[in-house]
Amino acid sequence: MDLWQRTMIRLARSERVTDLMQRHGGATALARRFVVVGGPEAAVATACRLRDRRGISASLSYLGEYVSDPVLIERTVEASLAVSQLLGAAGLDVQVSVDSTAIGELASPDLCRANAERIARSVAAQPLAGRNFLMLDMEDLSLVESTLRLQSHLLDHGLPAAVTLQARLRRTVRDLESVLTRSPAVRLVKGAFPRGPEDDHQGKAAIERSYLSLARTMLSPPAREAGLHPVFATHDDGLIGRVAGLAREMGVPQDGYEFEMLYGAHREGEQRLRAEGYAVRLYVPFGVAWWPYAVRRVGEHPRNALLLGRSLVRQRRTGVLLLHPDVVRRTSSTVTRSPITRRPLLIFDGECGFCTACATWAQRRLGNADVLPGQRVNVATYGLTARDVSAAAWWIDSAGQVHRGHRAIGRALRACGGWWTVVGWACLIPPFSWVAWAVYGLVARFRHRLPGSTPACHMTSDDRSGRAQLADSGKD
Ligand code: FAD
Repeated sequence: MDLWQRTMIRLARSERVTDLMQRHGGATALARRFVVVGGPEAAVATACRLRDRRGISASLSYLGEYVSDPVLIERTVEASLAVSQLLGAAGLDVQVSVDSTAIGELASPDLCRANAERIARSVAAQPLAGRNFLMLDMEDLSLVESTLRLQSHLLDHGLPAAVTLQARLRRTVRDLESVLTRSPAVRLVKGAFPRGPEDDHQGKAAIERSYLSLARTMLSPPAREAGLHPVFATHDDGLIGRVAGLAREMGVPQDGYEFEMLYGAHREGEQRLRAEGYAVRLYVPFGVAWWPYAVRRVGEHPRNALLLGRSLVRQRRTGVLLLHPDVVRRTSSTVTRSPITRRPLLIFDGECGFCTACATWAQRRLGNADVLPGQRVNVATYGLTARDVSAAAWWIDSAGQVHRGHRAIGRALRACGGWWTVVGWACLIPPFSWVAWAVYGLVARFRHRLPGSTPACHMTSDDRSGRAQLADSGKD
């Protein structure tokens, strides 16, 4: 790994820079190039556009790897479940990619298994519009064994689980043999986690030889007879040409395998392959935790440094823009509040008549804050999901901190001015806040019986369990 790539990996791992860029950097050129900065709906909208306009398929992946916080793990699982359902509903093939460390491997392998099962079951339940499977990404060598065990566990339960294998690793020849006739698909990559000569093939030429030899096995008659779908994930034009030549030589038709690239990494390559009739898929990461992922892409391809430079300049400029009044931009039916805003925001459930009536009351009194229904806000910008919105009120303060439930209402009342400021403070300070918490819980639970309510105010048991989970997790 060269100095440039090592520097970018350090930048990607810096918590301070990550926090600064994701909190205030917003959808910079760098983020937009490689990531769909948004929630499951935005990701699936991108997948639909790719299919309709360019005949390209997608594999969607929620951003956020190497996490052990149960709230973040659950968020990844929920986002993966949501895209699986939305892809199915849109009539697309359902491919969801996950890293085992994003769904609980670091917290507990049992949790990881249970979460992988939830996602794979959802994928299996969708209508079949092509090849539906959960694709397990492969992380560093210490996780290879557990990821293969995870796939095996899912396959044993009859669930559609595919796996990524890394050509640079010497052990991959054996790993491929072990999954060849079981896995619905194998995604072959060069491998992004170099080790030493003991574990790795050394040098570009050796990795490429390994890649081609593994590709030959993936295209072989036993693999085809077993129904294995080979996925060759690379941006390397020379290697792509050699794999395509190998497939031709082995009599495998163009639709018998596919090439996959990272969203935004090699647009000319995607287009050329499509024009030549090859099946192309893009790995589309989505969410708000875009910085580590995007900076790693700069590490792989120094030309992307231009985008990085533009993003950093824009970040510096936002320091000035933060002092400016709010910017609210409309995009079709969704309002994307610019992350450079410092105006607080009250998010409420716009499908609930009672909540809407309360929000209208608050809006009249809140001079220095916005009040918006969650259904029209790009809530993923604040790390929230649609389910969070239907379960509670949210207050995003001027520092970007997210507060829920009675704490959100307390802060909103405080901002209303006059006597409401006192009531607001009371909601936040014990022992009054305990009463506020209890009253808020009761109102939220029985809001469908309150004046102005609509049928949508009635929360489902799912919503309630979502609330319970959030409350248990201590999310503010
Ligand atoms: P390289 O020789 O690195 O690059 C070939 C050419 O493509 C060069 O010109 C290079 O500059 C250009 N290029 C490479 N990357 C970019 C980029 N980001 N932007 C612009 N140009 C670029 N690795 C894992 O270890 N585990 C995984 O689960 C995994 N999943 C992946 C899924 C997909 C769909 C893809 C495409 C890659 C994945 N990778 C994964 C990363 C992979 O291992 C390589 O690190 C990465 O693809 C770069 O190698 P390359 O094959 O593109 O060839």
